[in-house]
Amino acid sequence: MSFREMNDHSDTIAAIATPPGEGGIAVVRVSGPQAGDVARAVWRGINGEGCPPLESHRVYHGHVVEPQTGEIIDESLLLYFASGRSYTGEETIEINCHGGPFVARRVLEAVLAAGARPAGPGEFTRRAFLAGRLDLVQAEAVVDLIAASSDRELANARLQLEGALSGRLGDVADKLTQALAEIESRIDFTEEEDIGALPADLLKELLGAAMLELAELADGYKEGRVLREGYRLTLVGRPNVGKSSLLNRLLGAARAIVTPEAGTTRDVIEERVVWRGTPFLLVDTAGVRPAKPGSPEELAAERSRGRARTHATDPAGGVLLVLLDISEPPTRDDLEVLGIAYDAPHVLIFNKCDLPQALKRSELPEYWRNEEPLLVSALTGEGIPALIEAVINRRFDGSRAARSEGYLLSSARHYAAVKRSLEALERATAALDEGRPHEIIALEVRLAREALDEIVGASGVEEVLDIIFSRFCIGK
Ligand code: GDP
Repeated sequence: MSFREMNDHSDTIAAIATPPGEGGIAVVRVSGPQAGDVARAVWRGINGEGCPPLESHRVYHGHVVEPQTGEIIDESLLLYFASGRSYTGEETIEINCHGGPFVARRVLEAVLAAGARPAGPGEFTRRAFLAGRLDLVQAEAVVDLIAASSDRELANARLQLEGALSGRLGDVADKLTQALAEIESRIDFTEEEDIGALPADLLKELLGAAMLELAELADGYKEGRVLREGYRLTLVGRPNVGKSSLLNRLLGAARAIVTPEAGTTRDVIEERVVWRGTPFLLVDTAGVRPAKPGSPEELAAERSRGRARTHATDPAGGVLLVLLDISEPPTRDDLEVLGIAYDAPHVLIFNKCDLPQALKRSELPEYWRNEEPLLVSALTGEGIPALIEAVINRRFDGSRAARSEGYLLSSARHYAAVKRSLEALERATAALDEGRPHEIIALEVRLAREALDEIVGASGVEEVLDIIFSRFCIGK
């Protein structure tokens, strides 16, 4: 569907708003100027009388019928929302029918036969946005809310929907507008000394406060991203220490392929788990071991080393779960793993604690000897609760943002625009300090404000709308 069609609100759209499959009820949603007409065409009272006069926010009990033949399709509830009082801002009806996929389909067909057209993905929310009922970040929050898989994610999406981000950006935009007014009012008067001089202190105060707020938002992004993607727990260790087995244990389901043959886990496996309301991303890498250059094992091992190194340099990278096999003395490969992992945040794990211990801490490299290993058995499950406890504690260790209840920026689109705005303000401040022409300062401040307008969808949105709304499901 083209942007033009999506922006044409003279038509009435309809979709099944509930997920496909069987359920208690299914909801068919209809929005647009003819929604009331559609109701009058497909709705009959429970005793066969015609559709009653519709009042906003009321529920009616009756039958959905074929508009042409009057044949009853289903006994249902009809909800009516008048124009200006609905999610989309348009006249809307919702038909709650029985939750079979066939019934819902028939109801939708009846609605379409009565003059509605099928809605595209996210088209209801898009209409809500275009009608000014939601700004763009609130519309995006709707998708996040639907996709949320942990308490914290849900809370963040809810805050965003309630306007936590919009409000903060609005405050910053107000400061920039005020600064712009100060600068622009003087642009025409640069010849006249008295009026032409900029109130530098006031401007610095306004721009400084705006930058502080934006920097705080940008800082939260790292944590917000973790919130969305999950805190990474990367299993590293030589082949056969039990990485796949431990991953499966932690997931509580056999997902990775486990074989007694060394080097079978070739690809990187990523699985999301939620422990105590917090999302984690379990990453299993292929074992670090020498192999023929260019062989699949070598490629996989290289990727694994790369991951370990990435963690060493990226503090947002979560922690490494460093595995050793307690039943064997450390091998050359084990030592290589330990060498790579040392700089990264890590948890040391001795696996296979159900077997006799042959691994002595005194045989480990000196800097590892003081680490208290967690003893676990991926086979029997021993020590697994303690391991989970340890990683949850690590996750919240010293990270104020991780524990904070406040709103965290979590979208790459928002982050990029906030950064752009910040950079423009840095240039504006520098220009102010250097006494550059007023026009230059005004230009930068305007760029900074435009970047913020883009986030909430107040300007330059045409290109991003299709991308954003394509993430929605049909019926939302
Ligand atoms: P990976 O190569 O590191 O992914 O190791 P796997 O998970 O494929 O395990 C290699 C072998 O060790 C398999 O035969 C597993 O059954 C075995 N294994 C894994 N964990 C344990 C454990 O805790 N105890 C015992 N006894 N064997 C284990």
